Amino acid sequence: MSLDFIPAVGEADFSDAQARLLTLAHRLGKERFAPRAAQWDREASFPFANYDDLREAGLLALCVPRKFGGEGADFATYCMVGAEIGRFCGATALTYNMHICSTLWTGTLSDGVAMSEVQRAEHEARRPLHFRRVVEQGAVYAQPFSEGSAAAAGKAPFGTTARKVDGGWVLNGRKIFASLSGAADYYGILCTEDKGDQHPDMRDTLYIAVPGDAEGLTVTGDWDPMGMRGTVSRTLLLREVFVPDDEQLMPRGVYYKAAQTWPAMFFTLSPTYLGVAQAAYDFTVQYLRGEVPGQPPVKRRMYPTKQIAVAQMRIQLESMRALFWRAIHEAGPNPSKDQRMRLYVAHYAVMEGANDIARLAIRTCGGQSMLKDLPLERLYRDSRCGALMLPWTAELILDRMGRETLYEPGERDE
Ligand SMILES: Cc1cc2nc3c(=O)[nH]c(=O)nc-3n(C[C@H](O)[C@H](O)[C@H](O)COP(=O)(O)OP(=O)(O)OC[C@H]3O[C@@H](n4cnc5c(N)ncnc54)[C@H](O)[C@@H]3O)c2cc1C
Repeated sequence: MSLDFIPAVGEADFSDAQARLLTLAHRLGKERFAPRAAQWDREASFPFANYDDLREAGLLALCVPRKFGGEGADFATYCMVGAEIGRFCGATALTYNMHICSTLWTGTLSDGVAMSEVQRAEHEARRPLHFRRVVEQGAVYAQPFSEGSAAAAGKAPFGTTARKVDGGWVLNGRKIFASLSGAADYYGILCTEDKGDQHPDMRDTLYIAVPGDAEGLTVTGDWDPMGMRGTVSRTLLLREVFVPDDEQLMPRGVYYKAAQTWPAMFFTLSPTYLGVAQAAYDFTVQYLRGEVPGQPPVKRRMYPTKQIAVAQMRIQLESMRALFWRAIHEAGPNPSKDQRMRLYVAHYAVMEGANDIARLAIRTCGGQSMLKDLPLERLYRDSRCGALMLPWTAELILDRMGRETLYEPGERDE
């Protein structure tokens, strides 16, 4: 089905559902999110109004499976929609990603991860609670994994612990960079089971939802960052926080397996930045044509250097889109080595490419274009943040690619 606009992922043969969802995201983004984006950025405040719109449009339940009342969108469809939202408000897209991932881990993704019969039954019994909250109450879930240790890079057990008690778990610890701090209804906390033996093990990772109003949960710290300011990614402290067993988003030990089985889940941070890159490109074209609303109609398109820069930006954008498109359609459990490498490449290309395109956009449009009444300087600051997101920072991707290319699993040098 065709669209009356070109989405951030580029033109393609979309299914009817994809076309409808992309149109919805595009309309909301253009009419509501873009005009508000400067406000969240200036105030470093959470885009609550955008979330009201997402809720009303049914987009909070985008990836809740249909049998639980959601839209049932698959991984690729989410990535297309996420990019379209990112085109109009990066902070909204990035926080939306945290929420959507909470439903993907529990939904589609869990369906493709091996579980024992007992685990499967437990999961089937518990997940309707989370889906109901999203579908019926419009609840928002955050995904605070980072701790300022090697855990979020996937190299050590999470320092946040969960101790088993009668009827539930008691959580203790600290999460940094928790996007949606103070705005989420539930925080999906990754923590390690405290078995009392002082030997934390990554295989004992638990994934538990903590209600925003739980006793012992506090949001602390300032939030005055360079970019993605509307994400409000502050610090969460958990002190003896009790949650009932039903708050488990996955059975014990399943998250660890799921993260290994479904590496593409970490790619879900990319769509936001493909959207940011598209926005910087869109702005440049509009600006050089003298068509930015509210600006004098000064044309700058006649200079060959500008034309060349736009061509370079388009080449980079198309390379990102092509890798992105392939990666989102290949995503699935247990990718081959070739697919895994491509996934890394796609992620790296989008995260670094977004910043490259924003950099070229400012150089090409010139001094007036980076004044704060225009979106370009915000896009530039937002674009830099993609490469910092664990576990797949731009650095760690290079690290993984180099090692995994030259060493097969288990190989060592004497
Ligand atoms: C806008 C924004 C929103 C965010 N939202 C969330 C969120 O909602 N949830 C969440 O969980 N996290 C979130 N994060 C956090 C993010 O994923 C990282 O955890 C955070 O940026 C790490 O910062 P750090 O300085 O502690 O990194 P460090 O851990 O100090 O790492 C610094 C750099 O060193 C490299 N590095 C790190 N570990 C290793 C290692 N073991 N080996 C080799 N190199 C390594 C990496 O390249 C990394 O970028 C967000 C970050 C940003 C910028």
